[in-house]
Formats: sequence, structure tokens, C-alpha cells
Amino acid sequence: MSIKSNIKDILGELEGSSAKLIVVSKTQPIEKIQEAYNAGQRIFGENKPQEMMSKQPELPKDIEWHMIGHLQTNKVKYIAPYISLIHSVDSIKLLKEIDKQGKRADRIIPCLLQVHIAAEETKFGFSSDEIKSLISDPSLLELENVRIIGLMGMATFTNNSVQIRSEFQSLKSLFEELKMSELPRNMTMKELSMGMSSDYQIALEEGSTYVRIGTAIFGGRKYSTN
Ligand SMILES: *Cc1c(COP(=O)(O)O)cnc(C)c1O
Repeated sequence: MSIKSNIKDILGELEGSSAKLIVVSKTQPIEKIQEAYNAGQRIFGENKPQEMMSKQPELPKDIEWHMIGHLQTNKVKYIAPYISLIHSVDSIKLLKEIDKQGKRADRIIPCLLQVHIAAEETKFGFSSDEIKSLISDPSLLELENVRIIGLMGMATFTNNSVQIRSEFQSLKSLFEELKMSELPRNMTMKELSMGMSSDYQIALEEGSTYVRIGTAIFGGRKYSTN
């Protein structure tokens, strides 16, 4: 299967929902990304700022770059001038740094709060309770160069679709609860980023608005060993 036909198939599955496709291009060379671009794809996700920084200047300027991986505060400045959406905001400290770099770049940077929904210990993100207390944190109101537009989460890496579905449901219900709440003026609940190659069909059924898909488009990733 080609990159183009894989994208076409997935877009077919997204029809009828309002979900958008993020092609996850981490570890993929420029030529493969260009191939996806030529097939009409414009939103790409990377999980490492260094890798995004090296690819972004080589590719067309109308690409929307999304940061989907853990972001260290000292790397925010490299992506602040062009990043379209940061999915992986997992601390107030990071949010404050994004605000600071947004100010320097004279932009308001769209962000999602990453919520820890998986059973695994290692995944980054806020708990539901932390998110609920965050929305009433007065220091959030001082941040004028970020805009929180929704939530992101990753399900447990498992074949158990019942578990995956219930984790996505918990994220969706937090999303709906926040939507009904009084939110700070720099926060809205519009986007719900959930679903990867192995679980995006479940995520779509549970109300995802952004699916992040790499393997089902490019095939397995090759990581260099050096
Ligand atoms: C790598 C990655 C994806 C895509 O994973 P695939 O299984 O290749 O579709 C999605 N989200 C995040 C945060 C990732 O790091």
C-alpha cells in the first residue's frame, strides 16, 4: 500500500465525523513527508522539537506542525514561532514558558492539556483532579499568549479494547464536564486529541476530534541505533 492510498483510506473512515487527521511523521524522512503532502495532507505531528526544527524549513510553508510528544521547557523557544498546536502540555511550568515564548514570537499559541488516562505509570499528563483545580488557578488568567483549546490523552498500550474504550470515555466525559463549566477566558473545550494507529477507530466512536496516526500510514518506524 502507498502512503497516498493509506491516507485516503483513513480519511474515508473519518468521513461523517468531525475528526481531523494528523499524520505522525516522527522518524520519517523528508521525502516520505513530501509524499504525504503531495497526497493533500497538511497537518503533521512530531514528538521531538529537534526533529521538527530540522524538518520544518525543508518542507512547504503551509504545513501545520503539531507537537505531540513531551516538551521540555528549554525547547519551547525553537518551535514557538511556527507551531500550530501543542498537544502535550503536562505542567503549569511548561504552559508559562509557552506563554513567554508566545509573547516573544508575538503569537497566541494554541495548546491542549495532556491528561493521564492510561493505566501505565510512565505516561505524562495531568490527572482529572489536577485539571479541575487548574481551571480555577488565578495565575492561568495572566497567560495572554497561550490559548487552551482542549484535551489530549493516550490509552494504555494493550489489546484490550474494552479498557481502551473506557479510558477514552473517561477523557471525553472530563472534556464534556469542563465544557459545561465556567472556564478562564483563555480556555475553551473544542478539540479532543485521542487515537493512534492501533486504537483510532475506538477513539472516533468516543468523540475524538484529532487522530494522530503514523504506523498505519507509513508502516513500522525504523529507529536508528546510534
Ligand atoms: C508516535 C505517536 C503517535 C502515532 O503512533 P502510531 O502508532 O504510529 O500511529 C501518536 N501520538 C503520539 C503522542 C505519539 O508519540
